[in-house]
Order: sequence, then C-alpha cells, then structure tokens
Amino acid sequence: MDEEKNILIVDDDPAMLRTLSDILGANGFTTIGAANGREAIDSIKNRVPTVALIDLNLGDMYGTDVIKKIKGHWPNTEFIVLTGHASQASAIDAVNLGAHSYFQKPHDMEQLLISIRKAFEKHEHLKALEEGKNKYHELIETSDDPIFKNDLEGNLLFVNEAFKKVHGYSEDELTDTTFYDLIHPDDLLYVKNSFKKAIKGESVKNVEYRCRTKCGLYVDISINASPIISTKGDVIGVMGIGRDITERRMAEEDIKRAYEELKKVDKMKGDFAAMATHEIGTPLTIIKTNIEMLEDGMFGEIPEDQLKRLKVIKKNADHLVKLNREMMDISRIDAGKLRLRKEYSPVSDIIRDASKDLETFAENKKIEIIFDISDENYRLNCDGDRIRQVVRNLVKNAIKFTAEGGKIEVGFEDMGDCILVRVFDNGIGIPKEEHENIFKRFYELGSSQGEENEGTGLGLAIVKGIVEAHGGEVWIESAPGEGSIFYFTIPV
Ligand code: ADP
Repeated sequence: MDEEKNILIVDDDPAMLRTLSDILGANGFTTIGAANGREAIDSIKNRVPTVALIDLNLGDMYGTDVIKKIKGHWPNTEFIVLTGHASQASAIDAVNLGAHSYFQKPHDMEQLLISIRKAFEKHEHLKALEEGKNKYHELIETSDDPIFKNDLEGNLLFVNEAFKKVHGYSEDELTDTTFYDLIHPDDLLYVKNSFKKAIKGESVKNVEYRCRTKCGLYVDISINASPIISTKGDVIGVMGIGRDITERRMAEEDIKRAYEELKKVDKMKGDFAAMATHEIGTPLTIIKTNIEMLEDGMFGEIPEDQLKRLKVIKKNADHLVKLNREMMDISRIDAGKLRLRKEYSPVSDIIRDASKDLETFAENKKIEIIFDISDENYRLNCDGDRIRQVVRNLVKNAIKFTAEGGKIEVGFEDMGDCILVRVFDNGIGIPKEEHENIFKRFYELGSSQGEENEGTGLGLAIVKGIVEAHGGEVWIESAPGEGSIFYFTIPV
C-alpha cells in the first residue's frame, strides 16, 4: 500500500476532534478522524498514518494500547500524545513507547503545529535512512565479491551470497564454522596475523590465501579487512571484502611458465649462436686464406677478369668474417660472458689508434678527423681493446654517415667520477624517435641513411654492450641535417 502524508487524529471529544481536523486541514494537512480506539485501529487497515495525534483518555481503550496496535502494523508512524493532567504517567509510557512528543490539554496550537511538522520531518529522515540502509544491504547481498563479518574468535556473523557461492556452503552449514576453518592450513598463520593487525585498527589490504570449498578444492582469494567497531568504540570483530583471484593466479602461473620456457629457448638460442659462430669461424678463415693465396698468384697467374671475381668473393668473405666476429661479441654480451681484461691504459692512445685504422676510409671521403684531447697522459682502468672497438665503431659510423668534405671530432673529458668520450660528426643526423632504436641489434635506418651502408646493424649494440659491461652509459644528441654527437662514459 502506498504511504500518503496524513495525520490520524484520535479523540473521544467530538468538539476537539473537529477543531483539530479544521485547524490541521487549514494548515495543509490531510486528516483522518477517529472518535475512539476501535475506530482508529479500523482506519489504519486501509490507510497508513504518517503521524498519529492520540488522546490518551479514550472511552473504549487506553491510548497507549492504540499506539502499540498501530506500531505493530506501521512501525514508521510518528506519534504525538495529547493528555489531560490525570494521565501524565501514561504520557510518559507513551513517550517510552517511542512517541515523538506529548501535550497537556489545553494545548498551545502553535506549539502543536511545530511538533507535527517536526514529526513529519523526522518521518522523512527515518524513511531516507531506511532506504539507504536497504540499498546498502542490497549492494552487499548482490555484490560479486564475497563479504563477511567475524567476531574476534573468527565466528562468522554474516556472509553474503557471493561468499556462500565461492565456498559452496549454505548459510546453515556455515553457522558452526569459523572463518579460519575455511583457510588452507599453510596460509592460516598469515591470515590470522593479518586479522590481528585489522583488530588493532589497521586497514589490511590484499591478504591473499587459499580458501577451502565444500567439495574440497581450494580457491585463491584476496581480501581487504577492517575492524568492526561497536557504538562504545570497542573493536568487536573484522569485516572483510574478498575477491576470487583464481583466474589471475592461473594467468600468473601461465606467464611464469611461459617466461621460464622463453628463458630456456633464449639460452638455447644463445648456445646455438655461440656454437654456430665458432663453427663458421674456422672454414671462413680457410676460405679467406685461400682467396688471398690465389690473389697473390701462389697457384699461377690469374687472368684479369677472374681476379675481379676473386675480389668480389673476398669482399663478401670479409663481410662474413666481420658479421661472424660481431655475432660472437653479441652472444658473449647476451650471456654476460664478455670478459674484460682491464689495465690502466692511456685514453689518448686508445682514441688515436681506433681512428688510425679508419684513416684511409676518411681520406677517401676527404673527411678530416680532429682530436680534442685535454690530457695526453690520462690513464683509465679499462679493457683497452674493447674501448678501442667502441671508438672505432663510432668513428666508422661517423665517416659512413657524413658527406664528402665533412668533419669529425673525437675527444674526451675527465669528469671526476668517470671519463666522458665524445664522437662528433656533421653528417646526416638521426631523428629523435630513432635515438633509442639505433642501439638495438640489427637495427638500421631506412636506405636514405647513407646509400652505401654495408653495415651489419650490430655495431652500436656492441658499443652499448661493451660500455655497459664497464658500468658506463651511452647516448646520443642528433637531429636530421645537423650531425650527431655520440657520448659514452666509463667510470674511473
Ligand atoms: P651499422 O653496422 O648498420 O652501421 P650500427 O649499429 O653501427 O649498424 O648503426 C645502426 C644505425 O644507426 C645505422 O644503420 C645508421 O642508420 C645509424 N647511425 C649510426 N651512427 C650514425 C651516425 N653517426 N650518423 C647517422 N646515422 C648513424
């Protein structure tokens, strides 16, 4: 039945009943009049009174009994009691029954109106509160996440539908069960300790454990727990909201397994690359030596056109030798097996020697290499051969990617805790978005980057590997058309 906003007036004095009805009607209220207790009780069968104004001295019944009857039917009705002097005690009884207020006859009408309005307001508040409470309960009951309340001993005080579903038990089956009975023995201590923290007032998050279901299987759950605090301020239990994380756990296990597999495959790949490069090395050396012997005429005069062919074969054999050597370096770097033979070496020599190998290459392109060496005697504890390889790779790229007549500058600076080596060129430059990529293995920019790049795409990956094996860093400043500066540091 829909509730309407009305006032039930119960008074056995017809004149008073009429007066009250008229005044309240004139003030915008809908009234229902009842001349005695019986009439009042009959009237509420069809209409819910929002507020009931009750004279306690009714002819047929005690007003308090009428209040009890109405309350039994409509617990949300607000009562205002009207009483003669003789029934003060009953008025107090009525207030104890939950009556909103009482007035002694003859009453002040203004005050009564104020009290009626307040009773309506209280009714609205309580209704809103109850609706909120119902929504909250509905939310908890229909939540997909298991929610429960325990007392301090772990006895379950409340469980929602999702909790029952996850565990496979009915509410009755859970009445004699403590929360701790549902936990895998190996996780019990951890959960109990977490709950102890919750009891102390800490909010405890992501407590992951295995809970036992009715069929004996275990489900992975993660819960957040918080203390339940009584109106007196004491902690009387723990409330938890959980989440079934079985699927997440399974996915994690899958990822872990896949990762282990990948690691195995990666190791096999590394082992294979190391073995293959080693195996290729020997026949390649034999091929190269034989080509050189043929070229040198050790097996007789070679006609000019065949010599040309031999040169092509030799060039490609050289490329293969270089690729093989770089592949070997990369597999050593990957396996963490790049052995560094460290000794104090003069950095100026390393830089000059590395560039010397490339002098002809630079001269052919009319490129000038300038050295900017502040301290000729500076010695660095490093693997000199490997750092020379780093500088050579950087200078070679600088020459390769700089137009004829360009300029290259190589230098270093003592930074106190490290040395900073710099290779500058005024070549074609590299777009910002490629700065990280160029250090990846086999990464080469499009064909626009130098028309005759016969590289392997491994040079900078090796540079990075060697520098990092020394504990240093490598980076670049460059923009298309503005040249490039490659920097690397080596800690002292
Ligand atoms: P590669 O053997 O192909 O030169 P690297 O690893 O040494 O391989 O270099 C990767 C790519 O980075 C090159 O192909 C080139 O596109 C770019 N690069 C490297 N150094 C320079 C430079 N100094 N100027 C312009 N581009 C460069």
